[in-house]
Amino acid sequence: MSAVRKVLVQGGGIGGLTLAAALAQRGIEVDVAEATGSASVLGVGLNQPNNALAALEEIGVRGSCLESGFQFEPLGIWNTAGAEVATIPPPEGRYGQPSNNGIARPLYTSILRAAAEKAGANIITGVTIWEMTEDHDGIDVELATWTGKRTPALRQDGAASSRYDVVVGFDGLRSRVREHLFADAYTPTFTGFACWRIRMPRSADLTQVVFVMGKDVKAVLTPISDDEMYIALVTPEPGNPRHDPVDFVRLVHERMRDFTGPLAELRDSITDAGQINYTPLEHVTVREPWFRGRIAIAGDAAHTSPPHLAQGAAMAVEDAVTLAAALAEHSAVPAALDAWFARRRDRALFVADMSLALLKQEMGREMAPDEGQLVKLGIPGALTRLAQEAY
Ligand SMILES: Cc1cc2nc3c(=O)[nH]c(=O)nc-3n(C[C@H](O)[C@H](O)[C@H](O)COP(=O)(O)OP(=O)(O)OC[C@H]3O[C@@H](n4cnc5c(N)ncnc54)[C@H](O)[C@@H]3O)c2cc1C
Repeated sequence: MSAVRKVLVQGGGIGGLTLAAALAQRGIEVDVAEATGSASVLGVGLNQPNNALAALEEIGVRGSCLESGFQFEPLGIWNTAGAEVATIPPPEGRYGQPSNNGIARPLYTSILRAAAEKAGANIITGVTIWEMTEDHDGIDVELATWTGKRTPALRQDGAASSRYDVVVGFDGLRSRVREHLFADAYTPTFTGFACWRIRMPRSADLTQVVFVMGKDVKAVLTPISDDEMYIALVTPEPGNPRHDPVDFVRLVHERMRDFTGPLAELRDSITDAGQINYTPLEHVTVREPWFRGRIAIAGDAAHTSPPHLAQGAAMAVEDAVTLAAALAEHSAVPAALDAWFARRRDRALFVADMSLALLKQEMGREMAPDEGQLVKLGIPGALTRLAQEAY
């Protein structure tokens, strides 16, 4: 018999919605407390590698993702003039083809949300946890109104508590559930780099993810549909500046100044700050168990890393489907959470550590000895490990 009848998930992003669908499909009652709702989904895309697609198949949405996205096999490497200099073949492994699916984030989120709601999950937007009181067989939770990242939540007059068997924080890099469990033991660290993502019409010759290494810039071009693509630029941003959006177009042009040929044409087509999203790259890695008692964290809340393997969201969906399975299979919560963490720890932390090491290597930064060992695997070696290992 399942260890749980009712679960609260804080965070209705990629991981939280996947967990909600996976639990509700097993007949477990789920509430999702999401701060901002669909307004928080950035209008940029991401790559779903085939391990993510396999996990998404467990909740029945792999087909919809493929229909909405753009599939490709090898990854390309171009020089700064836009000529192909090498390809990275898809790793052979257990997850089959396609190896990759580029997809727009808002579409991805709406597919997950529809699956969660169809299965019966209750998604509440504009709220966050106010208070959690845990005893030996459950947690009483009061929700409050979300008023923004930098302002305190608003307690609702006469709000009642609801009781849950488990609470899961899928609430991202600045997780409040993580803070509840570990106080300030884990706070995000700025890497010294940021990512500029620019959405634009797909150029006809972009049929796969392409990497371009320039001076002080790495560009990644990703097709996300027949019509659309995005460019992600990783650049050093010393001091973590808060750039004014009115300067975005100029700053992106400066960072792409060494690009010529078709890449210069793409650069010159960027004229609207509304196409551009800027994200400082931060990381946080929780190495001890991702739970205490009946409260757990997962996805970026437990392990956020730079996007260098394009596996962060993949790890979140893997965390989600394996957590739902563990909660359904075990008859006691501690055993379920223990088994889940033991299954997930090495794989998720490998992605976190490898991604950070790759960022440092590509940008010529000093690495610790264990990071130096990790990067010897290279991107092909890391992707092969992830493709061969079961999640
Ligand atoms: C530049 C860049 C490119 C990337 N590219 C890829 C890629 O190609 N492939 C890939 O697999 N991954 C990629 N990632 C990583 C991926 O975006 C994340 O790993 C993934 O979104 C994590 O999912 P999550 O559900 O754990 O957290 P999030 O997506 O951050 O979702 C957290 C949710 O919780 C909500 N929330 C936050 N705080 C609260 C609160 N207090 N109360 C209630 N709700 C709250 C938020 O509104 C949000 O909806 C990329 C990341 C970056 C930065």
